[in-house]
Amino acid sequence: ILELIGLRKVFGQQVVLESIDLKVRPGELVCVIGPSGSGKSTMLRCCNRLEEPSGGQVIVDGTDLMDRRTSIDRMRQKIGMVFQQFNLYPHYSALGNVALALRLVKKMSRAQAELTALDALNRVGLGERAGHYPHQLSGGQQQRVGIARAIALGPKIVLFDEPTSALDPELVGSVLEVMRKLRQIGMTMLVVTHEMAFARAVADRVVFMADGHIVEQGPPEQIFQSPIQERTRAFVEQRH
Ligand code: ATP
Ligand code: MG
Repeated sequence: ILELIGLRKVFGQQVVLESIDLKVRPGELVCVIGPSGSGKSTMLRCCNRLEEPSGGQVIVDGTDLMDRRTSIDRMRQKIGMVFQQFNLYPHYSALGNVALALRLVKKMSRAQAELTALDALNRVGLGERAGHYPHQLSGGQQQRVGIARAIALGPKIVLFDEPTSALDPELVGSVLEVMRKLRQIGMTMLVVTHEMAFARAVADRVVFMADGHIVEQGPPEQIFQSPIQERTRAFVEQRH
């Protein structure tokens, strides 16, 4: 459903991504791990052209994102994004935040947007807090609103960039639990994370990046128990 072929990204003189080949199939949850500065966020941002790739191809649901005939606005409706900082509007309720996205992006009526938003909030376990404003919600709840906003739009794939790293440790579990549930209902997800235990338990595939390259990818058992590359071994050992 998402395919990166020979993706390359350069900032000035610095090569940040080189020869990135990655496929995410429908229903898969793929986790991306790797040291700080290895290009994980940049890769994710290239998947919806929040960052402009310098070379290579990004194919989403059969459409080449780099083709100049492709409507990037239309494509972005197929690609949900969940950020580390939740990026909620403080003066909108949880329901309002999700509904606003639906009205802007899907041009829904207010009534229809609110119904769809409530359904999404129910799916992240926040139906009862729909009327709460961000400051009345915990960080974990705010992030679940962020997830509801992404899934309400009916995306083909959701990209997560360290969705739990701004959270207090005791709030991380509730967000990971929601992601686990989404996995069960067949949502396709590409997740940059430092949560090794989550990647190990839930991912269909784990991608290890370093210095702008994919060093190794495979099932979690391979990456965490019997990595092929020495660099992968060093990284996961140090993180355990
Ligand atoms: P972290 O785990 O710390 O989030 P990361 O793997 O997500 O790291 P990126 O944010 O993708 O890493 O950054 C990769 C490299 O690209 C870094 O060296 C960074 O300094 C550089 N970089 C990222 N964004 C820009 C930008 N807008 N302009 C210039 N350089 C950038
Ligand atoms: Mg990052």
